[in-house]
Order: sequence, then structure tokens, then C-alpha cells
Amino acid sequence: MINHEKLFKDALQLKEPLYVKLVEFESGIGELHIHIDFKKGSRFDCPACSHAGMPVYDTVDKTWRHLNFFQYKTYIHFRTPRIECPQDGVRMIDIPWAAPGSGFTLLFEAFVLQLATAMPIERIATMVDEHDTRLWRIVQRYVEEARNEADYTAVHTVGVDETSSKKGHHYVSIFVDMDESRVIHAVEGKDATVFTSFKESLAIRSIKTEQITQICMDMSPAFRKGADACFPDADLTFDKFHIIKGMNDALDKVRRDEQKEHQELKSSRYLWLYNPSHLSVSQERRMKDLTKLNLKTVRAYRIKLALQEIYRKVTEKQEAIIKLKSWYGWARRSRLEPVKEFAKTIKNNWNGTVNYFESKLTSGIMEGINSIVQSARNRAKGYRNVNNFIAMIFLLGGKLKFKCGLSMV
Ligand SMILES: [Zn+2]
Repeated sequence: MINHEKLFKDALQLKEPLYVKLVEFESGIGELHIHIDFKKGSRFDCPACSHAGMPVYDTVDKTWRHLNFFQYKTYIHFRTPRIECPQDGVRMIDIPWAAPGSGFTLLFEAFVLQLATAMPIERIATMVDEHDTRLWRIVQRYVEEARNEADYTAVHTVGVDETSSKKGHHYVSIFVDMDESRVIHAVEGKDATVFTSFKESLAIRSIKTEQITQICMDMSPAFRKGADACFPDADLTFDKFHIIKGMNDALDKVRRDEQKEHQELKSSRYLWLYNPSHLSVSQERRMKDLTKLNLKTVRAYRIKLALQEIYRKVTEKQEAIIKLKSWYGWARRSRLEPVKEFAKTIKNNWNGTVNYFESKLTSGIMEGINSIVQSARNRAKGYRNVNNFIAMIFLLGGKLKFKCGLSMV
């Protein structure tokens, strides 16, 4: 005959004086209940001062959800002792299979965390039949612990980008260590205060603001204000990705305005935004016809191509300054309001624009982070507050090492 108690004692790796007192299968509802007890007269260590051999003061009945045994939802019950320490008073002992205050065993939590890297929390909640807020709490706790352990003492080049979530109800600004391609800070909002928050997160780690020597970001006035105020020593770089996007926005404004009188421009938006080499044969033919016409959109398009060309070919700052100056003159004389406006923005952000050619901070890293954020958005589908979304960004993009052994490095 099988000794279930002995089997589960071994499976749970229980050590003296703990033992499995009773195992109950409730086959009707598909549950397995393991009752753990301790031997009479046992003494335990104080969890606070590790003082050994403290007598039991009283016990509290507690329950933890454990990994399923086959199809059975499994619960551990323990008459949990509290000891009385002369120094720390009455304390509950440390439980080897669970973190203090958690209703799940460490193995169950590790299982959930592992799943969370691969599928939405909502789906895991259905799968394990638990409320999603309980699972979010697991993710939050592990991420917080791992973040506290993370080492940012060598970070000096930071990329910043904002992302929207949940149909644009929330904006989250993300700070990235550009050398290690990992998220090191994320906070709700997209105004100047996100830099204050980042600065404070460094201060907690005793990292001085001067350690950050380069910041790569878009040209939004809010970000500039924040960076100037919090990191006055850092060189700003406006990266290629954001600059080409700004130019594309200007070009699209010109086209939308012009198409009111020029029907032939209708639904041509992507023709002008795509890289010419990515156009299909029919798109190319249409483009050829359109560029024969004397259109404002075509002029704006040529100005954009010239800007792209500079970013594609120039590798040296002095050359970039010369080419961008001449491009700027052309754009300012273009008589196209949105293009002129964009050129002015470039001029107002001149140093940060030309710095790109020196520091060569690649937008590739930020694009990589963006795709991680996109996954985080999927995993966090139906999340209840923005902190869950942020925790998911860290789980996937923080390159953290977790207490349960999971490593995303
Ligand atoms: Zn103590």
C-alpha cells in the first residue's frame, strides 16, 4: 500500500520537525489537500534575529495554493507556529515553501512567472483558475525584488521614449540603458516630471546625475525641459528614428492639405512614407505618375528624401553639419508651412540633432525595446492599473534576475 504522507513529505522536501499529517483527495471537486504539522514540543528559529530554539507561542492555520498534482488543484495547509522571541516578540516562523504573506507556494509563483513571460496574465488566470489580481501581485513582487537587486552603477547612456497603453489612456515613459539594451526605469506620464522620477530612482541607488552623460530622445519640449533641469551635464541626442518621423508627419500634413484640391492624392499616404525601395511595381508606377505633376507633396517628398539621405550616408559630425545646414536652407525656402515648421524645430534642437552623428546612438535599440513593450501590452491585456503594465515591461525588458531562478538576461 502506498504511504501518501511519506510520498508528499518527500515531494515537498519537508524537513524535521515538519511532517505530512494527512492527505485528502476530493475527487468530486478535483482538489488535493495536504495537511502539514510539526512534532509536539518542537522549537523554531526566530525569523527576525535567527535566534534558534524558540518555543512555540501559538499556531495559526494557513493555506497555500501549490502546483497541481496531475489534474488536482493542490493546497497545503499548515498549523503555522508563532514563536515568542525575547528580543522581537511574537513572530510567525519562516515557511520554507512560501514567501511571507503570500497565499501561493514558491513553486507555484515560479510557475506563474515563467508563464507570464509567454502568455497574457488573463489567460494564465483562466488556466490556473485564480483571480488575475492575485497573479499580478506575484509579478509585481518578483519584479520589485529583482529591480532592487539590479546593478545600474555602470549606466551612462540612456534612451528615453514614451509609449501609450490601453487605447491611449495611459502614457508610460521608458528609460533604457543603451549599452545593455535593458529597461532601467518606467513611469506613468510623458511630461518633464518623468525625468525627476528617473533622477530620484538613481538617487535611491546612490548614483549621481553626472554619471549619465548621454541622453537619446525625441525633440518634445517636455522631454527637453525635464532633461535640461535634471541632467544638465548630459549631452542630448535626438535620434534618427524620431527625426525622420517628424519629417514624415510634416510631409503628411502637406499631402492632406493638398488632396482637398487634388483627388489623385487620395489614399496615397503610404506611398510617400515608405522607403522607395519597398514599393511594389504598381505603387512605383503610381508614384512615377504623381511625381510628374507639379505638386506641393512632391516637393515635400524630395525634401524628406534628402534628409533621409543625410542620415543614411553621413558618418561624421562636421560633414553632417554642412549637409544639414544646406538642407535646412532648402526646407525653410520651401514655402510649405509644415516643412518650414519642422525645419525650425531642427534648428531649435540643433546640437542634439548633430550629436547623433558623433555619438551614433542607434535607434535600433529603442526599436527593440518598442517591440518588447508591444509584447508587454499583449501580456498585460486587461490589466487593472498602469503599474501592472510597468511590471510587465520590466519582466520582459529589464534583463532582471529573479529570486525564483528565472533569468531574462
Ligand atoms: Zn528574534
